[in-house]
Amino acid sequence: LMQLFRPLDLLGFVYRTIRQGMIDMAEMFKLMDTSVEVEDVPGAPALIIRKPTVTFDNVVFGYDPDRTILQGLSFEVPAGDNIAIVGPSGAGKSTIARLLFRFYDPWSGRILIDGQDIAQLQQATVRGAIGIVPQDSVLFNDTIGYNIAYGKADTDDRTVQAAARDAAILPFIEKLPQGFDTQVGERGLKLSGGEKQRVAIARTLVKNPPILMLDEATSALDSRTEQDILATLDRISRDRTTLSIAHRLSTIADADEILVLDQGKLAERGKHNQLLRKDGLYAEMWQRQASEADG
Ligand code: ADP
Ligand code: MG
Repeated sequence: LMQLFRPLDLLGFVYRTIRQGMIDMAEMFKLMDTSVEVEDVPGAPALIIRKPTVTFDNVVFGYDPDRTILQGLSFEVPAGDNIAIVGPSGAGKSTIARLLFRFYDPWSGRILIDGQDIAQLQQATVRGAIGIVPQDSVLFNDTIGYNIAYGKADTDDRTVQAAARDAAILPFIEKLPQGFDTQVGERGLKLSGGEKQRVAIARTLVKNPPILMLDEATSALDSRTEQDILATLDRISRDRTTLSIAHRLSTIADADEILVLDQGKLAERGKHNQLLRKDGLYAEMWQRQASEADG
């Protein structure tokens, strides 16, 4: 999301954030710091993707020098696959997303997209290839159309329409008297959590990235809305390499592979049924969530 901010927008965003308390300020300033911290090496080439594979090769990383978060993490996502990353809170799941988006560079090890080390590439081309749908998407106090096109200034109406259709929010927008020109946000139409996520998904689709990163994209929604949005995400992720970070395991049970992260290390990996048979951390998390759902 942060690649969207130009300085002036950022000021407006900070102002609205203070008013609405939408995002943790400390968290946001950390993100702002890091976009200054990570710089392109001189003459860095553009990322060129033929097959959008994603590889973590022995990645070691921490935010503070005296605390390692990812402890030598290796995995590969074949082009077009859908892999899930699960694990206890604080395990390092979102850190993986931040590193892939290159908010930070690893201490050691490499992150590769289609065989190219992202630390050596033009950052903008790396970020351009990855669409992120976070848990709580931020909307701007502007029209729905603006919010969808935001990722790309030169977007034409047809692209915005198609994105809205694929995100399954077009019928909703077409029923509004002012359609795509409807103001949303604090001075306009208040959208539900699910509608907001659909606008965020449409925004991602305008970007048309070969790689998708879903970081608990549906975990703030009620379970009925979650099911609806999951069906949409399933559809748009089909021909994209997708990393889904999930809290509710029932939402990722059919992933091509599930990585179980614990304290910055891969504790287990495999398909849902294999992991249940292992009777380890995944099976334990699965049983705990099943009993919570019953009770
Ligand atoms: P998860 O997404 O699995 O819940 P995170 O990747 O967000 O976990 O965080 C992993 C660990 O890194 C946590 O202990 C968290 O407190 C710490 N952490 C996350 N972001 C920062 C940061 N910006 N500065 C310092 N520590 C952080
Ligand atoms: Mg997280």
